[in-house]
Amino acid sequence: MSLVVVGSVAYDGVETPHGKVDRMLGGAATYISLAAAYFTPVKLVGVVGDDFAQEDSDLLASRNIDLAGLERIAGGKTFFWAGAYSDDMNDRTTLRTDLNVFADFNPRLPEAYRAEPYLLLGNIQPALQRGVLAQMSQIKLAGGDTMNYWIRDYRDELLQTIAKWDFLLINDSEAQMLSGWRNLRRAAEVIQGMGPRTLVIKRGEYGAVLFHGDDHFIAPGYLLEQVFDPTGAGDSFAGGFIGYLAGEGVAANDADCATLRRAVIYGSVMGSFCCEKFGVDRFRSLTREDVDTRFREFQSCTKF
Ligand code: AMP
Repeated sequence: MSLVVVGSVAYDGVETPHGKVDRMLGGAATYISLAAAYFTPVKLVGVVGDDFAQEDSDLLASRNIDLAGLERIAGGKTFFWAGAYSDDMNDRTTLRTDLNVFADFNPRLPEAYRAEPYLLLGNIQPALQRGVLAQMSQIKLAGGDTMNYWIRDYRDELLQTIAKWDFLLINDSEAQMLSGWRNLRRAAEVIQGMGPRTLVIKRGEYGAVLFHGDDHFIAPGYLLEQVFDPTGAGDSFAGGFIGYLAGEGVAANDADCATLRRAVIYGSVMGSFCCEKFGVDRFRSLTREDVDTRFREFQSCTKF
C-alpha cells in the first residue's frame, strides 16, 4: 500500500546566513516524498524538464519512490525557485519563481496509482488538487497543504477542495487568513467546519498544534543547535506526518488521537532533520534509526 504524493519537483537557489547554493534539488513533492519514504512506499506525481539530472532521479528511486508519475517534458525546463532568509531565518524572501514546465502541470495519475489508499496533495492550484482526488478510487486518508495565495485569490475553489479532505496542514498565519480568526482555537474550529476533521497548524520553529475532533495536542519544535537551511521543513513535516499514518495503515474513520499525536511528532522529527543541512542533503545520510532516536528524544523532553 503506497502513498501518492503530488506537487512541485524543482531546482532551488537558496541563501541563508550559513551560505549560498545556486542550484540544488528541491520542490515540495521532493521533500514530502523523501521524508515519507522512511515510513511507507511512495508514488510521486510531478513534472520536470529534460534538464532534470539523472543523479536526482536516482536519489528518489533509491528511496522506494516510484517515478512512473513524474512526467518529463522534452525541451522543457524544470521549475526553478530561489529564496533568501533573514538573519534569524524566520523570514524568507522569494527572489525568483520560474514556473517553466510547472506552469502547465495538470496531474494525470498512472493507472497503477489510482487504487492506492493514501494521498498527500502538495501546494498546487486547488482545482488541480481536486482533480487528483477525483482520479483515485479507494482512498483511506487524503489531505494536503495550501498557501496564502490560494486562500486569498482562489478562496471558493479552495473551499470546494478542502471540503473533501480528511486533514489539512497549514501554518498559523494561513490558518488565521483562512478562518478570519487570530485565536488559533477559534481558527481551528472554523476550519474543521469547512471539512477536514484533522487539522495541523504549523508554527515554524515553535512546533505545531494538532486538532482532531474535540481533541488538541501541542507539539514543540525540536531545539536544533544550528539551523542551516529551513527550506522544505514544512514539506518534510507533512511527509513525516502522512508517511507514518500510511505506514501504520490508518484510515480516516479509525484515526485515533494517540496515533495522530505520534504522526505529528514524526512530522516534527522530519522537519527538524531537514533544517540541519542545505536542501535535501540531510536525507542522503539519514537512517530510520536516527529518526526513531529523535522521536524518543521528543518523548523524553516533553514528559512531565
Ligand atoms: P517550504 O520551505 O516547506 O515552504 O518548501 C519549499 C519548497 O517549495 C522549495 O523546494 C520550492 O521549490 C517549492 N516551492 C516554492 N514556491 C513554490 C510554488 N509557488 N509552488 C510549488 N512549490 C513551490
